[in-house]
Amino acid sequence: MLNLTIKGFLENSFLDWPGRIASVIFLPGCNFRCYYCHNWPLVAYPASVPTIPLEQIFKRLDKFRYKRSGVAVGGVVVSGGEPTLHPQLPELLGELKMRGLATKLDTNGSKPDVLCRLVHQGLLDFVALDIKAPLEPEAYADVAGCPVDVRSIRKSLDLLLSDGIDYELRTTLTPAILGQDRLQRLLEQIRGAKRWTLQNYRIPPGIGKSGNQRSTLDRRRSTNRCAPAVPIGKLIPLELKRSFLSPYPASTLERIKRLAANYVKECRIAA
Ligand code: SF4
Repeated sequence: MLNLTIKGFLENSFLDWPGRIASVIFLPGCNFRCYYCHNWPLVAYPASVPTIPLEQIFKRLDKFRYKRSGVAVGGVVVSGGEPTLHPQLPELLGELKMRGLATKLDTNGSKPDVLCRLVHQGLLDFVALDIKAPLEPEAYADVAGCPVDVRSIRKSLDLLLSDGIDYELRTTLTPAILGQDRLQRLLEQIRGAKRWTLQNYRIPPGIGKSGNQRSTLDRRRSTNRCAPAVPIGKLIPLELKRSFLSPYPASTLERIKRLAANYVKECRIAA
């Protein structure tokens, strides 16, 4: 009997799986602490988020399967938090497959062995893998808010680059941490990838913009097309870090996208 704790369900999303209408299931808990996380309660305070019974979700999924001309439907995204931390993830994906639903996994790539098993068991149709920074311990820790074994992320990346599964790599552009040098190195490391999706940094819900640090960064950015990478992960407490960063302008994203054309087959900017 599947006994998974589900903490969120979105019946109908146009954004989470390119080219599909998909439902999204959110699993709690994560081994990273990214300062820009938009699912912070799921990550840090999962007990405070109501649990949704799995049977209720399956009922809604069975009802929801319908077709609209020109749009592939019938997909479910399993997101989080970090879904690969849940031992019953394969069973959940198996149940979805048995219902004739295509499956997509959103993952931070920290569990390559789990990812490898899911791919080779045919439980996934699409993987969205976060590449948060160049695969270097310091850069990754700055974004993830904790030490990360970047060799694990590399293994997950290599799996997708070499396997036949459909995938996208995703990077949230964090102005103060992912400066031009780091972005350049990241692009070298994902060279040849099928698709790289850029997500602009958005200030997480409930976090205000204030403080001299923010205006300092704004001034830096106004004189640099791409903000310099500064090792703020070690210096500034999480709440403050969250408070002073503001997104890149659209023109910077377009410039990065043009640069990416030299490295990856397709680059898109997420809506
Ligand atoms: S890996 Fe994803 S879910 Fe986990 S803290 Fe980072 S952004 Fe949030």
